[in-house]
Amino acid sequence: MSVKVNDNLCLGCGQCEPVCPEKAIMVWGIARVNDKDCTECLICLGYCPVKGALEEVRNG
Ligand code: SF4
Ligand code: SF4
Repeated sequence: MSVKVNDNLCLGCGQCEPVCPEKAIMVWGIARVNDKDCTECLICLGYCPVKGALEEVRNG
C-alpha cells in the first residue's frame, strides 16, 4: 500500500512534504513517495492543492 504521485499533475509545490508524519515524501522538482515508509495515512492528500496529484493506490 502507498500513495502514488501523478507526475503529470504534481506542481512540485512542496506542500505535501512537511505534513507527512513518516517523512515518506520528498519533493525535488515533483513529489516522490517512498513506498516503504508510507503508511497510507492519507494526510498528504488533504494538503495537496491539485486534485488527483496524489492518489491512493491499492495493491492486490
Ligand atoms: S499517506 Fe501518510 S505516510 Fe503516506 S506519504 Fe501521505 S502523509 Fe506520508
Ligand atoms: S502537494 Fe501535491 S502538487 Fe504539491 S508537491 Fe505535493 S503532490 Fe505535488
